[in-house]
Amino acid sequence: MESGQGAAPSVVLAVDIGGTTVKGSVFVDGVELIPGRTVPTFEGPFSAFDAVLELVSGLARTARALGYEPTTIGAGAPGLVDAQTGLVRYAANLGWTDLPLARLLEERFSLPTSIDHDARTAARAEMAARPTLRDFVFIPIGTGVSSAVVSAGKTVIGARGQAGELGHVPTIPNGRPCSCGQFGCLETYASASAVLAGYIAAGGTANSTADVAKLVGKDALADEVWSDAVNALATGIIMLTATLDPAELIVGGGLSAAGPVLLDPLRERVGQLLGWRDSPAISTSHAGPRAGLIGAALLDTTVQSSFSHMSQESP
Ligand SMILES: [Zn+2]
Repeated sequence: MESGQGAAPSVVLAVDIGGTTVKGSVFVDGVELIPGRTVPTFEGPFSAFDAVLELVSGLARTARALGYEPTTIGAGAPGLVDAQTGLVRYAANLGWTDLPLARLLEERFSLPTSIDHDARTAARAEMAARPTLRDFVFIPIGTGVSSAVVSAGKTVIGARGQAGELGHVPTIPNGRPCSCGQFGCLETYASASAVLAGYIAAGGTANSTADVAKLVGKDALADEVWSDAVNALATGIIMLTATLDPAELIVGGGLSAAGPVLLDPLRERVGQLLGWRDSPAISTSHAGPRAGLIGAALLDTTVQSSFSHMSQESP
């Protein structure tokens, strides 16, 4: 058994589960101990949950090899995530419905586990990076599009834990079909995956969303797909702005790597649509592409596992 409370460092196995990759790292007293690992979410016959188990096992082994005993697990996941019960109610991109993720990880690794929506874990990292930021919306754009709403320094969860599901705001009437059953959802135009798929469907050739971003301004097809994405995002942003009056909108996730190629036209379009009032600042993540992972490592200090039946001292 480890030494008593206070003496032993807090060693968190942090995981950021995405529709394309799962990222993980070991944090000791809030500092990242290793460069971290990224594995594909789906590989061969294995499920997204298998990928998470494999990654966390590796992190635990690495921590122990370096002389640290893991104390908790923190995980961010997309979809409808209930932090209180530790349940992922629905994550279309992972194939999960009512998955008791926290309990399953606790049972497998004998470690108290906290989970939250990946956008909210990333927002936690933004707040840690800039404590004066009190009213903002964090919008991760990857396989899907979601958002974490922070108002007066508090994360808005909603009555059913579904606040901020920006990706499923219908933005184009009778638009593309979405996995949620609606048509024209924001994420069917503006997710990183949708940008790439849209470009290929229109006859373009590209291997990644970054390839499409590089062609903006040089290739008419890329311009068209990019402009659709920007317009859909701008529509979502003006709705958020009119409702919440945020000081800042922070764009994260894979698509934010495009930097000014995304931000410049987005600011311009939002400015046009919000001509009647000042636009909020639009920026990329200060915590960087690993915001979700850093925020997952912060979960143990802010979310108490209410379903944990194991003490922290369990070996
Ligand atoms: Zn949808």
